Parts: sequence; structure tokens; C-alpha cells
Amino acid sequence: MSGYLYSGLCCLSLLSTDYERGDIKMLKLIESWKGAVEVDGVKYDSIQALLSSSKTFSDKVHIVLHASAKNVTEKRTDSERQSIEQSTDRTEYRITVKKYMTQPASIGFDFMQKWNNNKPMPMRIMQGTIEKETRGMVYMNLHGFGQKTITCACCGKELTNPISRHYGIGPICLSKLGIVNAIDDIENIKEQLVNIKWSGWIIKSAITEKEEMK
Ligand SMILES: [Zn+2]
Repeated sequence: MSGYLYSGLCCLSLLSTDYERGDIKMLKLIESWKGAVEVDGVKYDSIQALLSSSKTFSDKVHIVLHASAKNVTEKRTDSERQSIEQSTDRTEYRITVKKYMTQPASIGFDFMQKWNNNKPMPMRIMQGTIEKETRGMVYMNLHGFGQKTITCACCGKELTNPISRHYGIGPICLSKLGIVNAIDDIENIKEQLVNIKWSGWIIKSAITEKEEMK
């Protein structure tokens, strides 16, 4: 099975020992593996399925371990939990993130479910402070804002409406955010955008731009 971010594939070759099925000992070592396993091109759902099969081994055995998304994600989550560092940095940062940070969890990409209760970021461009971080993620308290731009801060599409370009959000995304657009009152829309809040974990490699605010 292949996952979006956490997929992995591991290959190893082993030589069987002289005594009968001594190579089983090696398989025992990896029997905690949760994913599928492939031996000499034949795929088994698990190590257990392989051990209970009547498979006989040649001198050289080629084993491929298929990482299930579950297997690798759990390992990653555990190691991330152990190394969360609180941040003393009170600087406000304006960040731009990749689109997947604004989308709910999907098959093969369960980050949003595991770390943010499946509450994705409402906008791709937001501003705020870093509360804590790990090697690969950062936890931020963010809010929205309006700025003059030609692309939407939520979906990244080009803004065709000249009024929308004053605060940087298209009409569809504006209504998704629950913002009432009363007769194109730009200042009022900007105030409402600042009240759009989100706190949660962001994958560091999902941040494409980061600007320090003075
Ligand atoms: Zn948009």
C-alpha cells in the first residue's frame, strides 16, 4: 500500500543458513512488521501469512517489506511526541502554506486527523506566533488578514474582481469563511478577516513562504 506522505518501501536480501528453514529465524526478527511482505516476488498480507504458508526458500531470498500507512505514521507520531519544544519566540510571522494544509484528511494522508482533529487551516496565507515545534512541524496560533493582492489567500486562484483585490479573497472563499460582504465594505471585510482564527500543527515543509512581521 502506498500512502501520500508516509509511504515507504524497504528492501533486504538474506542468505539462508545451512540447516533446514533456518531463515525462519530471520523472519521472526521482522514479524512485528505490520505491512505486507513480498518474498521472491510473491506477496503476502503479513509476515504471519508468510510463516503459515508452505513457502520453501532457495539459497538467496529476496524480501520486500511494504509499509502500510498505519505502520509508518504511528512510528513517526511517537517520535514527534517525544520531542515537542515550547517556543519563547513571540514574533508574528506571515506564512503561506501548500494547499493540502487547507484540506481535510483523506485516504493515505491522515495528518489533519491525527494532529488537528481534522480541522484544516481556513486560509493558505495567515499570520501569527509559534507556540511550539518539533523537528518537522510547528504549532501556530494564527489569524487571517486582508491585503492588496491579485490571488486569493484561501485557494490561490487569480482574483478577477477589482474589489476583491483590495483584501485578497474571492467571493466564494469569502462566503465559505462565513464573512458577510455588505456592499463591498473593504474595511469591514478586513476586520472580519482578522477574526478568522486557527491554531494547530503545520508541517514545516508545507510552509512555502515565511515573513517576519515588525
Ligand atoms: Zn479563493
